[in-house]
Amino acid sequence: MTPRKDWQPGQLRARLQAQTQHGLETGALLPIATDYELVESGGVTFVVRIVANLGRKSKATKKQQKKDPDFNPFLPYEPDLYVTDISETHLCLLNKYNVIDHHLLIVTRAFESQETWLNLADFEALSCCLREIDGFAFYNAGPVAGASQRHKHLQLVPLPMIEAGPELLIDQLAGDRSKLNGWEPTLPFCCAIQPLDRFLGSDLLQTYRQLLNMLEMGDPQDRWQGDQAIPYNLLCTRRWMMVVPRSRESYGPISVNSLGFAGSLLVKNSERLKTLKSTGPMAVLEQVGIPR
Ligand code: AMP
Repeated sequence: MTPRKDWQPGQLRARLQAQTQHGLETGALLPIATDYELVESGGVTFVVRIVANLGRKSKATKKQQKKDPDFNPFLPYEPDLYVTDISETHLCLLNKYNVIDHHLLIVTRAFESQETWLNLADFEALSCCLREIDGFAFYNAGPVAGASQRHKHLQLVPLPMIEAGPELLIDQLAGDRSKLNGWEPTLPFCCAIQPLDRFLGSDLLQTYRQLLNMLEMGDPQDRWQGDQAIPYNLLCTRRWMMVVPRSRESYGPISVNSLGFAGSLLVKNSERLKTLKSTGPMAVLEQVGIPR
């Protein structure tokens, strides 16, 4: 991979902080305020956020879509949200409507569809960012997996997502197990997980394809070009990678993306929180995934 001139190793965290400040000052960054509750379900603790002001995001999105249904917020991107170049193919932006602080988007410079297989350039860009930030990375592969934009974008949020909050769902289940080799978490939905010893782009790509093949949703011809087989969520930290195939985008009005499978859900109001609590977050994941 040829890094771009603007990519300076060791600088991502500082740039992210400086650009966040700039985004807030210019009004380009519009964080979504939430409260949260901890909800126990399936032997783990979920963080359920309740939105205080989604209004301005949905109003802005509706306005954009009314103007142009093919509106692409990443091409061109808003300059005030630009964080850094990464490579010839990828750059980093701030998530304009962030719920979690310092939420990064890793987007392709040229248009690629969110429903195509991830490739080496995607994972090299992700690897650069994961080396700088110990975070939770994810990919919502298509609208059924929770993607709201068609232009290819991986995402990264620094850990912990909440100071002194619960660990990611998989880390809670893994407990103090030092090696995840051969470990299969007991979960009610289909998924595959592999430990990562290293997280260079090529390691990530190899593990990604291995996981998809384990779930029989890889490319049978091993070409990995064009569109993915079925929608899925990809979850990745420095320690492990996980793939979850999806059957539905939402459980009733409760939308779920990769963050849900990391134990972090978002609801728009207290009525939906009630529904979520009475069904149980783990049962919701089962319904939007593929029940075992
Ligand atoms: P997803 O919904 O998972 O596809 O992620 C896309 C993200 O892009 C959403 O979380 C939005 O908040 C974010 N977004 C929408 N418009 C913009 C924009 N103009 N610039 C940067 N991020 C945006």
